Amino acid sequence: KERTLAMIKPDGVVGNYSEAIRKVVVDSGFSICKEMTIQLDEDRASIFYSEHSSKSFFSSLIRYMTSGPVLVMVLEKDNAITDWRTLIGPTDASKAKITHPHSIRAMCGQDSQRNCVHGSDSLQSAEREISFFFDDKYSC
Ligand code: ATP
Repeated sequence: KERTLAMIKPDGVVGNYSEAIRKVVVDSGFSICKEMTIQLDEDRASIFYSEHSSKSFFSSLIRYMTSGPVLVMVLEKDNAITDWRTLIGPTDASKAKITHPHSIRAMCGQDSQRNCVHGSDSLQSAEREISFFFDDKYSC
């Protein structure tokens, strides 16, 4: 089975979407191997999103990601990476509300920044992101 890192971002946690999202996760056939609530500081958030460090929205992204706690989960199922990305919908939540109304970002996101959830986009990033948050990436 494949693993991916899912995150409920600060707007999702503060907006009280954690339970609703957890229900979608389980109803969609994922098992939640690990789960942790954590407050990212500027350094950790900048490392997590280092691929975007040259983007114009980077400082705003870091402010958003450090504005409150996030809930990170290791999800497991066949095809977990692609299936979770499909379930969360497109990056811009305001567009997701129109084009993917049943997606998680349509349910709890606002716009291209405040999109309430994250999902690893490849096997390589899943491994990196799982070990970013959890010591033992192999045990469930
Ligand atoms: P994530 O990596 O969080 O799952 P994603 O892969 O859909 O999201 P990326 O392009 O990797 O999107 O961007 C990472 C995050 O940066 C987005 O989830 C969003 O919070 C923020 N972001 C992306 N594009 C913009 C933008 N144009 N303006 C503001 N914030 C943005």
